[in-house]
Amino acid sequence: MKGKVYLVGAGPGDYKLLTLKGLECIQQADVIVYDRLANVHYLKEAKPDCEIIYVGKASSDHTLPQDDINRVIVEKAREGKIVTRLKGGDPYVFGRGGEEGEALKSEGIEFEVVPGITSAIGGLCYAGIPITHRDHASSFHVVTGHLRADDKENPEINWNALANIGGTLVFLMGVANLKKISDCLMREGKDGKTPVALISWATRFNQRVITSTLDEVYDTAIKEKVKPPTLIVVGSVVGLRESLNFFENKPLFGKNVMVTRSRTQSSSLVEKVMDLGGNPIEVPTIRIEKIKDNVELEQAIKEIQDYTYLILSSQNAVDIFFDQLDELGFDARALAHLKVCAIGSATAKAVKDRGIKADLIPSKFVSEALCEELRDVLKPEDRVLIPRAKNARDVLVETLGQICSVHEVHTYESVMDTSMKEDVTELLTNHQVDYVTFASSATVKNFVKMLGTDYLEKLNQTKVISIGPVTSKTLQDLKIEVYKEAKEASIDALVEAMIGGH
Ligand code: SAH
Repeated sequence: MKGKVYLVGAGPGDYKLLTLKGLECIQQADVIVYDRLANVHYLKEAKPDCEIIYVGKASSDHTLPQDDINRVIVEKAREGKIVTRLKGGDPYVFGRGGEEGEALKSEGIEFEVVPGITSAIGGLCYAGIPITHRDHASSFHVVTGHLRADDKENPEINWNALANIGGTLVFLMGVANLKKISDCLMREGKDGKTPVALISWATRFNQRVITSTLDEVYDTAIKEKVKPPTLIVVGSVVGLRESLNFFENKPLFGKNVMVTRSRTQSSSLVEKVMDLGGNPIEVPTIRIEKIKDNVELEQAIKEIQDYTYLILSSQNAVDIFFDQLDELGFDARALAHLKVCAIGSATAKAVKDRGIKADLIPSKFVSEALCEELRDVLKPEDRVLIPRAKNARDVLVETLGQICSVHEVHTYESVMDTSMKEDVTELLTNHQVDYVTFASSATVKNFVKMLGTDYLEKLNQTKVISIGPVTSKTLQDLKIEVYKEAKEASIDALVEAMIGGH
């Protein structure tokens, strides 16, 4: 087994500024090594059993020294794993990607480098600043601001050349040396009135841009408490921001949107919030818990030859059933004699992924429709197996039970998910939430149960958006004020209600 390492540019921050190749590397990785500039949302794309290693924290540029990072990567690759090393921006732009590549080469480990959108260009773009422009700059220069103590001993930076070349200057890692940077440029002849922009957390919902001039920028930065990660842009292209700033004009730019959801709701709302420039905070309220050491399920599988029908009504039901089948040493062939019914297209797909085409997928995705369709075909001697959730509705078992033998096996249950409780209370207490969205009554109830009624007042200080009248009624019954209600029960209408509220 031979491992391989991908050094992947994760882009400047916006979730969608990642290459297709980069995404593929994330999805295939056995191990992901990432630091603080890579968007953590990407980790959701990883395989469920992917090992995730964080190597950087907010207060210092590198938590793990570079040698240790290299060692971790090398070790994992030696174990035969696919390692994806996610690096903010482009791996070769002050990312020490070159050093990591050299270390891999010297260890004889295969690697590939996937370029990314560097903050030095993409970050400026989202701040409305084109790095070149025919009327302003015909070259650009990306410079490290991480300077040695005594500049005179630092021949890497030719201040005189930089001050006089006329192109756009972009300094990375330069906040701590801002005074020195501006002084050196002016000393070598750069006009003190040259426009400067300081762009912090570029391309993210919390992007902040401060503009000034070379002679005043240091004082401005102190006054505005500018902190890393920040790009320093020097040049007249900064002025174009007034016409080219599209990102900060997005309807949810800078807004924190708490998205409460039950397990079935897709993440399309989360994606929409990001597309509109906002920060989605996902709060799951329900979690699936598999019933452990399920003797009844094991028994049913061992006696699978005695059944004639298998009904699966959710993706979870499919996964748990087939995992158990596998654990007991069987595979899909053990089900060859059965008629398999799947309720819902997602369930049918999950069954197909396990190598079986469902014999019956009711036209409407509810139990009643399946009963209707099975009523005519089931015979008294049939035996139906239904592995499913503990708290599922009775209709299937009752109706079909009138025709033949039906065996319901509980395989999982939905329980309240309290994993985000602390985060949610803290965010609400610190007024760090602009909107809270609810897409069902059940979610409202679970959310309030999780939070406790003490926090209702805090919830009322945010803007609560409801998907429709039923959800709104549940909210109002709990004395939660509804700020806006969607015109129809869809995610698009929910977003519309939120945006329309500005
Ligand atoms: N390889 C990265 C740069 C790594 S050096 C790239 O290509 O973008 C780290 C520096 O990059 C930070 O100190 C900051 O100056 C800059 N930087 C990276 N991402 C940034 C962002 N989203 N906003 C502002 N500056 C950023």
